[in-house]
Amino acid sequence: MDHFTYRDGRLHAEEVTIAAIAAEVGTPVYVYSRATLQRHFHVLREAFQGIDPLICYAVKANANLAVIHTLAALGAGADVVSGGELRSALAAGVPAGRIVFSGVGKTADEMAAALQAGVCQINVESVPELEVLSAVAMSLGRSAPVAIRINPDVDANTHAKITTGRREDKFGIEWTAAHAVCAAAAALPGIDLRGVACHIGSQLTGLEPFRQAFMRLRDLVVMLRADGHAIHSLDLGGGLGIPYGCEDGPVPAPAAYAEVVRETVGAIECRLILEPGRLLVGNAGVLVTRVLYVKEGATRTFVIVDAAMNDLIRPALYGAFHAIVPAIAADPAVETRPVDVVGPVCESSDTFGRDRALAPVAAGDLLVVRTAGAYAATMASTYNARALVPEVMVSGERFAVVRDRGTIDDLLARQRIPTWSSDDAAVTVGAVT
Ligand SMILES: *Cc1c(COP(=O)(O)O)cnc(C)c1O
Repeated sequence: MDHFTYRDGRLHAEEVTIAAIAAEVGTPVYVYSRATLQRHFHVLREAFQGIDPLICYAVKANANLAVIHTLAALGAGADVVSGGELRSALAAGVPAGRIVFSGVGKTADEMAAALQAGVCQINVESVPELEVLSAVAMSLGRSAPVAIRINPDVDANTHAKITTGRREDKFGIEWTAAHAVCAAAAALPGIDLRGVACHIGSQLTGLEPFRQAFMRLRDLVVMLRADGHAIHSLDLGGGLGIPYGCEDGPVPAPAAYAEVVRETVGAIECRLILEPGRLLVGNAGVLVTRVLYVKEGATRTFVIVDAAMNDLIRPALYGAFHAIVPAIAADPAVETRPVDVVGPVCESSDTFGRDRALAPVAAGDLLVVRTAGAYAATMASTYNARALVPEVMVSGERFAVVRDRGTIDDLLARQRIPTWSSDDAAVTVGAVT
């Protein structure tokens, strides 16, 4: 459930009309609902009542400080995958003791930053990484709290680009090697092995892969304890899917997911960690865009909007479905017709939706791309020299710009033409002397 609803025919984010935000901030613009973020966090926490896991929000889904802050204020920790995300989480007010550092390619500098901040856990994904972490910890005179990320070799049955727990994927340590790797970890100075972790993929729409992975983790914990390791922490990753409003069918409710956790690892006597990203933020955001042109092509009708694949790449990258709705509800008596909603970028993949049944729209109308709170603004680029779009957060009757619109001046200011270009007779650039 979310707080984007039509009232009097106008789409609202909580108590504010989408049209009012677009009028003030311009388009394209991302709009987030604070109440929706809070609701999703509460639903998840309720589902896990009695287990009380540490819920570490996966910052890569939406790294806006206001989003992280909203969740941190409810008690969320953070799962970060880079030094930049670590700084974002700290800046947003997440206590370091609730931050887990994940990722397959951490640099020594990032490890040092995490240790100095005092994060609660570093999830290690390879033996070479363990060795570097050991050296970094020793050089700082610290001990690194480590969980070994296991690759449980289960297929998450999701999009190939976001399945991460099969043997052939780059993530984690093969579960059959856990015994040897943990022995190596325990022998390294500066490494405090205390847990195991996994994350098998994103946008999972079935519970069976979770069940398989968690059972494997449970067996591993038993085995590692028999080996003499004190395993206190079990990190189950994220990945629970959300409805995008397409033919995918229903997604499991958080309560059903929690039941799987209870049944598999509920009695293991570890502190459980969850790393949900999409589940918390996906439905809490929309991308608002304005129609530039309606073009009658040879065989199709194109609605050309001012947002593009650089702002929201999920349709182009994953073939993802996002519902697209008008900001002003169409008269139900008006017949819809199939149109392609496309952006201005020079790629045919810059298509938000094909054959969408929309009532006729005209230049200037606002369209809203739904379920754009996760892996949307964070994946934006400046392709086609397009500035990053702003982000707005709504809370009740108020809204605030929580990231300014980027500027082309800023894009240009970061670049320079080397002076040696003036040697090239073919290049005539007035400013270069
Ligand atoms: C991406 C990621 C998550 C979050 O995944 P969602 O599908 O958004 O819940 C959690 N943990 C790790 C290690 C990740 O890489």
